[in-house]
Amino acid sequence: MSDIVRRRSVTTWVGDVPIGGCHDVVVQSMTNTDTGDAAATAAQAATLARAGSEIVRITVNDARAARAVAEIRARLDDEGVSAPLVGDFHYNGHVLLREFPAAAEALAKYRINPGNVGVGARHDTNFTTMIDVAKEFGRPVRIGVNWGSLDDRLLTRLMDENAALAEPASARSVTIEAMLRSALHSAERAEQIGLAHDMIVISAKVSNVRDLWDVYRQLAARCDYPLHLGLTEAGMGIKGAVSSTAGLAVLLAEGIGDTIRVSLTPDPGAPREREVEIAQEVLQALSLRRFAPSVTACPGCGRTTSTLFQEMARDIQAYLKASMPAWRERYPGVETLTVAVMGCVVNGPGESKHADIGISLPGTGETPRAPVYRDGAFVGTLQGRDIVPEFNRMLDAYVEARFGGGTAASEPTEVDGRVDLPTLT
Ligand code: SF4
Repeated sequence: MSDIVRRRSVTTWVGDVPIGGCHDVVVQSMTNTDTGDAAATAAQAATLARAGSEIVRITVNDARAARAVAEIRARLDDEGVSAPLVGDFHYNGHVLLREFPAAAEALAKYRINPGNVGVGARHDTNFTTMIDVAKEFGRPVRIGVNWGSLDDRLLTRLMDENAALAEPASARSVTIEAMLRSALHSAERAEQIGLAHDMIVISAKVSNVRDLWDVYRQLAARCDYPLHLGLTEAGMGIKGAVSSTAGLAVLLAEGIGDTIRVSLTPDPGAPREREVEIAQEVLQALSLRRFAPSVTACPGCGRTTSTLFQEMARDIQAYLKASMPAWRERYPGVETLTVAVMGCVVNGPGESKHADIGISLPGTGETPRAPVYRDGAFVGTLQGRDIVPEFNRMLDAYVEARFGGGTAASEPTEVDGRVDLPTLT
């Protein structure tokens, strides 16, 4: 599907989800509910999983949260949601994982931030405890370094060493090096403690796109652990979506990254699963994965000054989206469908011919007729008030014929290349 050559890495299994190796790039997300509220967290985790999050991370920040983990897992199992849960630990993970074995058991992976494990001798003791629990329960870990919580002592030491050089590197380079060393030394230490090489995933997140590229290119060159990719604190709305896409797409196109998360700050009231949607769109745009039919829709211009085209395009896309859950069950491969919804005759017929099925809607001043193309061939013209429902009916028929092994019997009857419908008044 894609000519992107993936970087070679080992495969780490998170529950029954493989990360790395030759496997597909995995989409994951994180809840923002109070983990101690098991019902709310399970509900949001289920929503994220149903939206396509193949792994769901939850914060485990205190005893109440740790106590709720097993119940969250049980609730998901009861609902038939199998997405593995990952526990996000900071500061007290060594205590929580030891004191709440049910949580350690229910989680499929533990995220450890080496910058937040403790200082001095306690750092090694706490880190060792977490790795010991991972070994005991046969769970992989993610060594997740973050720019905002980098090991201060390591950074200070590298800065001091750098300052003593005849030609010191930039502070940015030294900080990146500190992140890489923190991640790689922690992984090495985990292996010394006895965790298998293929039980470790690495991430080193920053909030600037170009820094992200530099960090991950070096990380990919210096290890073969699977890489969890994401821009941290990407921001809100369009800014967050664009920054995340720019950060992830360039690296993924270079074959770097085995699992991704889009860290959006949701607008108040916005659905949490938007981050899953964006992650899927990024992978689909790069042809790394297919999740839903691709819709080619023109942006509209002065030729579509009425809202008719916008409404029709919106309604057709909404129909596709609403149909997908059932189609996915019934028609294997339907996510490879390509649909064109175009605004006028300028590019409409051309784009429609390139798609599996396409419609060229009437532009301003054009006769309210919409030619339809299927597999590159003109099959008729829709006109009248019911262009959208009729096109949706043709979509159903096409999907049934192509992915369901059926026939296109439910298609509108074509008369001289035209489908007779009530004419617009
Ligand atoms: S296809 Fe037509 S309506 Fe759409 S952008 Fe091009 S010229 Fe404008």
